[in-house]
Amino acid sequence: MSKSDDSNLRPATKLAQGGRRPEWTGDPRLGGGVVNPPVWRASTILYDSVADLRARGHATHDKLYYGRRGTPTVWALADALTDFEPGAEGTLLYPSGVAAITAGLLALLAPGDHLLMVDSAYEPTRLFCDDMLKRYGVRTTYYDPLIGKDIAALIEPATKLIFLESPGSLTFEVQDVPAITAVARERGVVTMLDNTWATPLLFPALAHGVDVTMMSLTKYVGGHSDAMMGSLTATPTLWPRLRKATYQLGHSVSPDDCALMLRGLRTLDVRLARHAENGLAVARWLAERPEVGRVLHPALPGDPGHALWARDFSGTSGLFGFTLADADDAARARFVDALACFGIGFSWGGYESLIVPSDPAGIRTATTWTDRDALVRLSIGLEDPADLIADLERGLAALAA
Ligand SMILES: *Cc1c(COP(=O)(O)O)cnc(C)c1O
Repeated sequence: MSKSDDSNLRPATKLAQGGRRPEWTGDPRLGGGVVNPPVWRASTILYDSVADLRARGHATHDKLYYGRRGTPTVWALADALTDFEPGAEGTLLYPSGVAAITAGLLALLAPGDHLLMVDSAYEPTRLFCDDMLKRYGVRTTYYDPLIGKDIAALIEPATKLIFLESPGSLTFEVQDVPAITAVARERGVVTMLDNTWATPLLFPALAHGVDVTMMSLTKYVGGHSDAMMGSLTATPTLWPRLRKATYQLGHSVSPDDCALMLRGLRTLDVRLARHAENGLAVARWLAERPEVGRVLHPALPGDPGHALWARDFSGTSGLFGFTLADADDAARARFVDALACFGIGFSWGGYESLIVPSDPAGIRTATTWTDRDALVRLSIGLEDPADLIADLERGLAALAA
């Protein structure tokens, strides 16, 4: 799995071309190729002879060997994701975003090590640190997402990894990623970023000093709420360690799901632009409403993370939060239940709009979530924003009831 053949191509072009190597899309015996890498389903790979079997047993990962090591459909997705991330050596795929996070942490940490984890991390990331990593002798210290270069004071001799997620889950704090990665480089600490919200289109992570970037492909890359997968994309220095650990852990993904992810990836640029536009239309409308406490959206000028977002990101996605002023749990439920265009459900990044109530107060330890107004998270889909706004207006009317 190699670096991009032409790294000068712009991201939208790479999304159209990535992973479509002639050896994966064309069979010379048929006299031509197809546009998309076909779905190669396999457990067993057949060999010509014992000598062939022995030779390929030591092959690199992009030779057919055994189903768990992937087939051209899997490699095409990994290759496309590597092309998409400037500075990357390779990409590994996992059955979910959480599996990508846990595999990365297991690959890069050992008993006795210390981990710095952002306090606004996705909740299952915290659970893994607090339970399994702890049992395996890895200590975790949570840090304020707004810490910036002051992270230096938290680095101990045993600190091996700083984990970032920006904007933060549920609360959308923007981290000063370049400041943190600069300190980490100086102190010899590896950095890993959950970049699911932005994707490399809006935030090329390795170019901002990150060593390993993770995405839940389940969200915007898949884009249709019908498949789950995760990825880790890394620098030349770290990729071999991740690959070795991933083989040892036995992670493997379905070629059918890879074909769905490749299909999603081809339209990511146009979808994300529409998610952004619709999301901003809804967020600006909410910000004007008296029933709304505040809107947590880094692309709005009043947002505390706006300056960092404007400096580092080239756009926004369609996931953000807002609070209902003076609303308790029951009022929030009345609001959510009154909506017809928004599905109530977890996950996000699909073409359809979703809403979930969220309660960050109980999942913070380094910082305190003091806002007492009820919070909700919106994933704005590809519907006409006027219909979404009319729906939210209905919901706000139900608040008073
Ligand atoms: C959903 C999500 C994940 C986990 O992805 P799954 O594919 O659902 O396992 C990780 N990080 C963030 C920020 C997410 O929103």
